[in-house]
Amino acid sequence: MNNLLTPVKAAILDIKDETPDVRTYTIGADAEKFKNFQPGQFNMVGAPGVGEAPISLSSLVEDGGSFQHTIRSVGRVTQYLEKFKRGDEIFIRGPYGRPWPIEAARGGDLLLVGGGLGLAPLRPVVHAVLKERKSFGGVTLAYGARDPLNIICGDEFSHWQESIQILLTVDEVPKGTEWAHATGLVTELLDETKIKPAEATAFICGPEIMMRFVARRLLLEGISPARLYVSLERRMKCGIGQCGHCQHGSAFVCKDGPVFLYREISRFPDGLL
Ligand SMILES: Cc1cc2nc3c(=O)[nH]c(=O)nc-3n(C[C@H](O)[C@H](O)[C@H](O)COP(=O)(O)OP(=O)(O)OC[C@H]3O[C@@H](n4cnc5c(N)ncnc54)[C@H](O)[C@@H]3O)c2cc1C
Repeated sequence: MNNLLTPVKAAILDIKDETPDVRTYTIGADAEKFKNFQPGQFNMVGAPGVGEAPISLSSLVEDGGSFQHTIRSVGRVTQYLEKFKRGDEIFIRGPYGRPWPIEAARGGDLLLVGGGLGLAPLRPVVHAVLKERKSFGGVTLAYGARDPLNIICGDEFSHWQESIQILLTVDEVPKGTEWAHATGLVTELLDETKIKPAEATAFICGPEIMMRFVARRLLLEGISPARLYVSLERRMKCGIGQCGHCQHGSAFVCKDGPVFLYREISRFPDGLL
């Protein structure tokens, strides 16, 4: 029987710098095991003796089984991974968690709202939409970052823009940096979307305060609570609902999420009220 806690070795096929502290790793692993890895799900990524961190799928899974993880170097595990080079091997276990309900969004409009590294788990949703563009109605990605230097996947936006609406904002523009888009909160971008929230499905991922304000705003504009999804990050250890580290109200983020309907978690004690 498969032990869900046993990691497997995976090769780093490529590494791309996104920002000074974020890199995208292309990973080659057991194709059979990862062929059903869905956008919104995550792996526990790490190394023996160092630890593990939950990391979202940031691409679709290619036919040969490779996929990408986009990782910000913030602490013990991710700073260790930062030293890895192409050809090195990491340990991963997964895939875990509840994915974005892309199937349910088909046939209607889709609003994707990302903040900072929250674009990483939304990127494979964009890729899925581009692959089958005619299956969706209007699609808008509203994305905000701290400043232009902290934008991830920026080199893909012009391609995405050929098929979907892209709205960008940053909190601040450092002196001498070029920036042709908005400055301010992601919520302000929602004024510019061509999509009517009342008829759309929305997927939101980013800092909790951002998700809370975006969700509230979309509800005021009439989005159905049955089509408003957020992805939560919580400290996690086992990834399979056994240890309780990521428990949030009555839910385990690792197994019941990380993707939740906003209404499922908004009333929890430390939820996104
Ligand atoms: C479902 C899910 C998906 C995720 N996807 C991604 C992703 O795609 N890319 C990505 O980069 N990250 C992602 N994360 C976040 C990532 O897992 C965390 O940043 C993780 O903690 C990094 O592990 P680390 O060992 O490098 O850092 P840690 O050592 O855990 O430190 C992370 C930060 O927390 C602080 N910290 C450490 N210990 C504590 C403590 N006990 N209490 C409070 N603060 C503490 C540190 O100072 C540091 O600022 C995801 C998280 C979840 C739950």
